[in-house]
Amino acid sequence: MKTLSDFKGFTANLKKQDQMMPVLFIGHGSPMNGIQHNEFSESWSKLGQEIPVPKAILVISAHWLSKGTKITAMNFPETIHDFGGFPKELYEVQYPAPGNPKLARETASIIQSTKVELDHDWGLDHGAWTVIRNMYPEANIPVLQLSIDYTKGAAYHYELAKDLSSLRRKGVLIMGSGNMVHNLRMIAFDKIDENFGFDWAVEMNETFKENIINHNHDALIHYEKFGLAAKLAVPTPDHYYPLLYSLGLQAENEEGHIFNDKLMAGSLTMTSLLIN
Ligand code: ZN
Repeated sequence: MKTLSDFKGFTANLKKQDQMMPVLFIGHGSPMNGIQHNEFSESWSKLGQEIPVPKAILVISAHWLSKGTKITAMNFPETIHDFGGFPKELYEVQYPAPGNPKLARETASIIQSTKVELDHDWGLDHGAWTVIRNMYPEANIPVLQLSIDYTKGAAYHYELAKDLSSLRRKGVLIMGSGNMVHNLRMIAFDKIDENFGFDWAVEMNETFKENIINHNHDALIHYEKFGLAAKLAVPTPDHYYPLLYSLGLQAENEEGHIFNDKLMAGSLTMTSLLIN
């Protein structure tokens, strides 16, 4: 478990690098992490205190899949409760961070690989707000979301992310939000709140971390080649693609720092990444 002092180690030299914002991949896990005080929500809160305060946040969430790529462009994005079967308390959460239509237009214009549609219907889904309300409880930093085009493959998403890199120098925190290992059909319901992982989940967690640390992005793009364990860990790519956006933004001289390296409920990992 990474502690506050670990984040300080990751981020100590940030201010010298002319305000280049770090990039995050967050394993978001259960929506309940949005309201529970646990090791994950606490680490998000610490992260918010340790990294430079962003001018805006751009989230690529596993929960916004679309045909084509869209970006939220409203002044006031709604808090979306895109889940079922949770306590009433979770549905009552509002995260009233503003949007930033000007930044949405600018971001759409710097993406070369496709024409990006300005969106006025989405808002902040739980891949974004459950994490960000812990990082920035005052909801005073604009938050935008970029959708994942479900018709496109892994390499496309990795390459698209590169178009976003100039935003990092403008104080924008870019965050992929998903889960590297995510198989809801195989959840161990008797171990739902436990740090337990099936063998294949443990294996893939190690494989993903090793390739991240070694900058072996090509292997991570072609993750199916890891075989059966990868098939079980990534049965559908929605929660995995946000990682590829984060990796696509990593510069040659930057390192990936792993935190929240935990398995949950058999078939999930919370394993997260800070790139700087
Ligand atoms: Zn999710």
